[in-house]
Amino acid sequence: MSREAARKWYWEHGGKEKKGTYNKVHLKERKEKEKQRWKRKKRVLVDMLGGKCKKCGYSKLSGLTFHHNGAKRENISDIRTRPLEALKEELKDAELLCANCHMELHYKWLDS
Ligand SMILES: [Zn+2]
Repeated sequence: MSREAARKWYWEHGGKEKKGTYNKVHLKERKEKEKQRWKRKKRVLVDMLGGKCKKCGYSKLSGLTFHHNGAKRENISDIRTRPLEALKEELKDAELLCANCHMELHYKWLDS
């Protein structure tokens, strides 16, 4: 939406009286777009790392996580909105693990 159109919309929807309305109304829409963007990026990143859990072979995007080998730099959930190329670089030596295998790896001590 252009600046002009946004101003018109804002004015028509109550202007100052309802400050923030535009963002509230479009929040759902924006979240949905963000989800779709992440889905596309995750597909690419998962494929780059072999497409399935390295330990058990699980392959649904929903349950796959990135395990950082060695020095963990940043949490993937904090950098989701970065460009795909930056994410590829960040995850180039990560391992693909499903949520179960990932938890087992980090919380081995609970099972012993
Ligand atoms: Zn697994």
